[in-house]
Amino acid sequence: MITDSIYFKVSRSFDSNIAFISAGDHQVLVDAGTGFYFSSLEESLQSVGASVESITDIVLTHCHIDHIGGVVPILETANPTIHLHRAEAEPINNGDMSKTLASTFGGDLPPFKIRGILDEGSILEFGDIRLKVFHTPGHSSGSITMEVIGERILFTGDTLFPGGSFGRVDFADGDAAKLVESLKRISEMDFDIGLPGHMNAMKHNAKQSAATSYRIAKSMFRV
Ligand SMILES: [Zn+2]
Ligand SMILES: [Zn+2]
Repeated sequence: MITDSIYFKVSRSFDSNIAFISAGDHQVLVDAGTGFYFSSLEESLQSVGASVESITDIVLTHCHIDHIGGVVPILETANPTIHLHRAEAEPINNGDMSKTLASTFGGDLPPFKIRGILDEGSILEFGDIRLKVFHTPGHSSGSITMEVIGERILFTGDTLFPGGSFGRVDFADGDAAKLVESLKRISEMDFDIGLPGHMNAMKHNAKQSAATSYRIAKSMFRV
């Protein structure tokens, strides 16, 4: 539990982390994992008095299979609005699932519609929780970072990880120079807690951790 309404489930596998936000009429997931561990997600939601059927929205930090695959089993029982940055949502809405890397990892992902198309500066309003979207490409073309407005919390997806780490850029849609620029941008934001797409939450010195990741990426990629 990060706040009274934000829960964070750290993955111990190839799955992405999954956050759950319960705010008024909105029951929101940030990222959805691969879907391989769907029953574990069901149990986690039940343990906080929620359920898969009650999910109203799924916000994806980007469309890689380890974050988006879990949408598929959820769509069997719920009809959430799926939110994703335009750069990745538009190909998916045109039936092109290549950016998800599903085939690269030997998976099969049926096409589905993204109704919530995000851009730089988009604000998502979920009851009294508001999320502000920053386009932070590099790990992928449509990677986003989201600020929980007024809470000093950032969802950093696969852009910023703890311990001076950051997302890989060697997939077809990756761009090292853009990742470094995105890490610089994040390191200049005001926040206390970072919730990454993999590994543990950054609950202490999160901002300092971002600065370290930026410095390491900048020297590693020489940009
Ligand atoms: Zn990931
Ligand atoms: Zn990724």
